[in-house]
Amino acid sequence: MNPETTVQPERTMSPALSKSPASMEWVRRLGGPLLTSIVLFAALVLGGLLYASGGGGARDSLVTQMLINAIIVVGMQIYIGNTGVLSFGHVGFGAIAGYTFAIFAISVERKSVTVSDAPFGLSEIQWSPLAAIVAAVVVTLAIGLVVGLGLSRTAAQSGAIAATVITLAVLFMAREVAVNWDELTGGDRAGLSFGIGDTLESRWPIYVALFASLLLARLYGTSRSGRLAAATREDNLAARAVGHNPATHQTLALVLSIVVVAVGASLRVYELGSITPKFFFFEFTLLTLTMLIVGGRNSLTGAVLGVVVITVGNEVTRYLAGPSVDSFEFVFRPGLSKLFLGLSMLLFMIVRPGGLLPDWELDSWLFSRWRRRHETKPVEAATDEDTSLGSEVLKAESITVRFGGFQALDDATLDPQPDEVTGIIGPNGAGKTTLLNVLTGVVPSTSGRFSLGSNDLSSKQTHAIAREGVVRTFQNLRLFGSLTVRENVAVAALHRSDSGDSGSQPSVEELLVAAGIWDDRDRRASELDYGTARRLELARAAATRPAFLLLDEPTSGMNEAESLAMTAQVRDLARLVGAGVVVIDHDLGFITGVCDRIYCLAQGTVVAVGTADEIQADPIVREVYLGSVADDGPGEPRDS
Ligand code: ADP
Ligand code: MG
Repeated sequence: MNPETTVQPERTMSPALSKSPASMEWVRRLGGPLLTSIVLFAALVLGGLLYASGGGGARDSLVTQMLINAIIVVGMQIYIGNTGVLSFGHVGFGAIAGYTFAIFAISVERKSVTVSDAPFGLSEIQWSPLAAIVAAVVVTLAIGLVVGLGLSRTAAQSGAIAATVITLAVLFMAREVAVNWDELTGGDRAGLSFGIGDTLESRWPIYVALFASLLLARLYGTSRSGRLAAATREDNLAARAVGHNPATHQTLALVLSIVVVAVGASLRVYELGSITPKFFFFEFTLLTLTMLIVGGRNSLTGAVLGVVVITVGNEVTRYLAGPSVDSFEFVFRPGLSKLFLGLSMLLFMIVRPGGLLPDWELDSWLFSRWRRRHETKPVEAATDEDTSLGSEVLKAESITVRFGGFQALDDATLDPQPDEVTGIIGPNGAGKTTLLNVLTGVVPSTSGRFSLGSNDLSSKQTHAIAREGVVRTFQNLRLFGSLTVRENVAVAALHRSDSGDSGSQPSVEELLVAAGIWDDRDRRASELDYGTARRLELARAAATRPAFLLLDEPTSGMNEAESLAMTAQVRDLARLVGAGVVVIDHDLGFITGVCDRIYCLAQGTVVAVGTADEIQADPIVREVYLGSVADDGPGEPRDS
């Protein structure tokens, strides 16, 4: 939308956020992640040192490995946690990094014995460990980006099979290459190994890498991209409908995640002093994924907790399976620790799929406590009855949609005016939702075109259309479930900056007040009742500051009083952000109360247009709509 032509509604700036100084924002952005990283780092390292101090070399190396595993799991959390795409491939990336590191870092003398024929003259070079880690990161990233391209082409979604299969293929291919490319990798049995005394001597590189990984992960998690990735994880379509392009954020998450995993894998090889294909295959995948899932993949703190819990559990089972326990004999003894991993994964998937800490982070917890104490409710923004809503015409011309042989829309033409609230009514199956789907790029039209102002949107994707200013709500509620009410709105508001708009805009808090959900602001969206959830969806759509708000049955599931309140809220919010409104509803009281002009659809065709009075008096409308039973959306449970 064009900011110059948008008529800005007059309103009083509320003190709520302007009171929070820029320095506070800075502290939160950087200080929060820093604090969390320091605490997590200290807990891991001090706990490890304490444990190691009570025993010999075995405990020492257990702690070292735990710290290295923590780096790798944190790396996995950046991608898996933020995007929700379950990747089996990260250990495959670890294999690529591990081998690259080994080939570059192992001495020429060692290589002349094991891989004297290495291609590209690799047996002739020897880099410092640090340079070899950089090489490992670069090589792994190059391969990871190709995989990432594939992932974004399949439109990787939270829980998507395609993405998981692609990453699984990475794991298998990495292993096959490692097993079969003997000249480079030393094959299945020998592998590559460092000379005696050439391996990692001090834990300092691990400390540095661990702290950097924790900080990077938390900075990403709280960043704009990280929050957008999380919104996409919660609901891909809803995220696109408020203007997010999932591929962008997922690719960034993948890149950062691969960097961290590559560093961790290099350190693992450096510490162990050797690498063979099985070092980075199923067993290690099982170990690291179990840590991530048991701890809580959506949270960095959860991931770290998982590393500790599973390391301890693994040690206990290893002890039980070992020779020191001989009082009883049991069948599973040899594979006890793997059994433990499998069972923990299974148990958590069934009983507590979010893990021990589904989404708790120290900094956000502290910040939300601080904010609760200090924030004041913004005064309700006073919108003038005369302020116009939007400023650009939305035009849909001759939209036809066929699903196979079925014609859902037949030459439908609409031109909702920017300064009006336009209603669409029609019996169940008339094609109302399909029309909204077309206008937001969710369903392609068979023919016809639509535009906003002079901007043709017909061939644009959902997120692009949203950024141009056409934003919708859904008949079947689609919220970002595990985010709070405030986060739902805030994450949608992030896209305003993309359009270059920087004029006065209602703050997230003002939108919450205008939508009547201020008191619910810190509740999780998945916990809301229908009415509140509907109001949140409205506020979230408004937060993108659209030119047009398209609302699909905003009162569905609401009681009468709520419907009535919604009438005012729709207009208030539209004025607040300066948007025209198209609203579908079957609640005639609501529609006639809120709409300036109403279209009646029947069997995909516009059969009548007019004011509320004209529509109610129209004989055709009476026949096709008023005479019929109330509309029920597809698969939509309804309690009113
Ligand atoms: P309304 O919102 O007016 O109740 P819809 O637009 O949801 O109606 O549906 C119009 C018709 O198109 C219905 O008969 C529905 O079954 C059909 N339809 C909607 N979406 C699809 C789809 N993706 N594939 C096939 N048929 C569809
Ligand atoms: Mg519908």
